[in-house]
Amino acid sequence: MKTPFVTKTQLEEITKTYPTPFHIYDEKGIREKARALYQAFSWNKGFKEFFAVKATPTPAILKILHEENCGVDCASGVELLLSQKCGFSKNEIMFSSNDTPKEEFLAAQKLGATINLDAYDHIAFLSALTKTDGFEFPKTMSLRYNPGGVFSMGTQIMDHPEASKFGMTKDQVVEGIKALKKLGVETFGLHSFLASNTVTNDYYPELARQLFEFALEIRDLVGVEIDFINLSGGIGVNYRPEEKPNDIAVIGEGVHRVFDETLAANGMPNVKIYTELGRFMLAPHGLLATRVLHKKKTYRTYIGVDASAVNLMRPAFYDAYHHITVLGKEKSTSTETVDVTGSLCENNDKFAKQRTLPTIEPGDLLVIHDTGAHGFSMGYQYNAKLRSAELLLQENGEAKLIRRAETPEDYFATLYGFDFE
Ligand SMILES: *Cc1c(COP(=O)(O)O)cnc(C)c1O
Repeated sequence: MKTPFVTKTQLEEITKTYPTPFHIYDEKGIREKARALYQAFSWNKGFKEFFAVKATPTPAILKILHEENCGVDCASGVELLLSQKCGFSKNEIMFSSNDTPKEEFLAAQKLGATINLDAYDHIAFLSALTKTDGFEFPKTMSLRYNPGGVFSMGTQIMDHPEASKFGMTKDQVVEGIKALKKLGVETFGLHSFLASNTVTNDYYPELARQLFEFALEIRDLVGVEIDFINLSGGIGVNYRPEEKPNDIAVIGEGVHRVFDETLAANGMPNVKIYTELGRFMLAPHGLLATRVLHKKKTYRTYIGVDASAVNLMRPAFYDAYHHITVLGKEKSTSTETVDVTGSLCENNDKFAKQRTLPTIEPGDLLVIHDTGAHGFSMGYQYNAKLRSAELLLQENGEAKLIRRAETPEDYFATLYGFDFE
């Protein structure tokens, strides 16, 4: 069972001011999550979380995370701009981009962000920019490693790095460090992202072992001691209530053990651990509130709600499961198997398929869980459906508007030759 962080009474009150649909975030939960993460890695002196901005690019959220000592991980020029405007600076900003336009490299360098290079060829690209655009190689840079092959844990295949567009081969990382050294870079980091939404406490320790051992190899091969190792994102959440949630304390201890066995045991006890978590930090601390508009029975029973895939794309895009609570009917014994749908002219606009839920009627308020990351931010405007509002449930229990819903004016704002008046 999943219990929403707001009650029916609270949400009904909130909807009097802010009509559904909207995403709402839980400040208390976010702060507690950040503190639990820092606690789990408190054994590592240089530990820092760089929150993946793409998961929840909302200033009010980024500011909370900043107050909890998090930096940001950006992948585009506008994410850099957003982070800068939210008060992040220099070594609080990781730039883990790929297929990067030159303007964005230049912006990252100007900000003093740590550039995490995705490709060996980008070294030549940046070298050329030193001549044409005044790019200067920073003293600290990071390289993104992709070990290729299949990433498995035990008998389970987690992902296929060989098919991933990200990162460099082992040789490229080694040659890249040599080349960057010649260009004046003094301090190096190593980054890798091997599997997404892992629901196991063993992913980070396994990834860490590969990176820690590689760091020792790099010292032998190039004589460079890696300064930080960035385990990036990938720690998942239990979207399904029957899944066992990850335990960050256990994960931190797992990485600690591997750290002691590899780096610390071999004379590199000061390597800093970085993370770029998005989903793990925010997903459970946001939800999409939506009201039931219609109930329709044909070959199936359809519950039509006022949110649609434009507000939460994951079910339509990945066939992802998001748990749904029918507020006020948690204990109902009357159930029905339904599809919960939005209004897009797309049959994949379904938040749930053939799900057994308490019997729902028009007017009921539903909560779609775990939308705090990769929820609002993946939104779009298909069918001229507009982006919803975002609210923050503050620690004092009051809801605050942190992004208004879009209006038709917003939708038309970029058009020429069209008179909205
Ligand atoms: C998306 C992304 C993350 C965050 O991933 P989560 O699965 O949300 O933790 C971190 N780093 C990079 C480079 C990413 O692209």
